[in-house]
Amino acid sequence: MIRYRKADRKTVGVRIGPEGIEVRLPLWVGPRDQRVQAVVQSQLARYISALPEEFATAQPISRAQLSEEVRLWAQRLGVQPRRVQVRQMRNRWGSCSSLGNVTFSDRLLEMPQVLREYIICHELAHLRYLNHGAEFRRLLSSFIPDWPQRRSALAGWVVWRELAAGKRSAGKKLGILGSAWKALWGKASGEAHEWQKVKGSKQKQQKQRKQGDG
Ligand SMILES: [Zn+2]
Repeated sequence: MIRYRKADRKTVGVRIGPEGIEVRLPLWVGPRDQRVQAVVQSQLARYISALPEEFATAQPISRAQLSEEVRLWAQRLGVQPRRVQVRQMRNRWGSCSSLGNVTFSDRLLEMPQVLREYIICHELAHLRYLNHGAEFRRLLSSFIPDWPQRRSALAGWVVWRELAAGKRSAGKKLGILGSAWKALWGKASGEAHEWQKVKGSKQKQQKQRKQGDG
């Protein structure tokens, strides 16, 4: 599902987070405006095109498996959480309190492992540093050097999930998804070429843009 929110701003902004996809619109324009649709479509296609193929076949894990993964990561990082909880969280993937209690969203259970690892490692690293400062990032990088890419892929995974969930109802009605939608649809029915097409067109666009910038 895509939520639209009007704001005092000049451009259309697409935000992807644990709460899903949110499109912020200038006051003078509505969600059905063609320009809005074009921006949303191209942004979502960008997120999806960056997704690794294996994400589509990721299998859910059990709570026990998640606990075990957390235990192993805590060992690796040399930290000892006081308590680890897994529960529904609306706006966050995880949290870490100053008392050493670490909580993870139950959506981690359905995530591809590379994304789950990034979140687990991130929250456990907060047991050493409660902020996102240089030392925190250095610690995170030493265990997960490609964490910025994983963070982007996490956004892509959210887009994938949200669109797949809204497929039957909202997606078609909104009619805003175009190639990104086709990529999802094709993927779900095992037609990898649609996915590739989106990737290809994205690369072409980037090339053109680069040349344009000259
Ligand atoms: Zn954090």
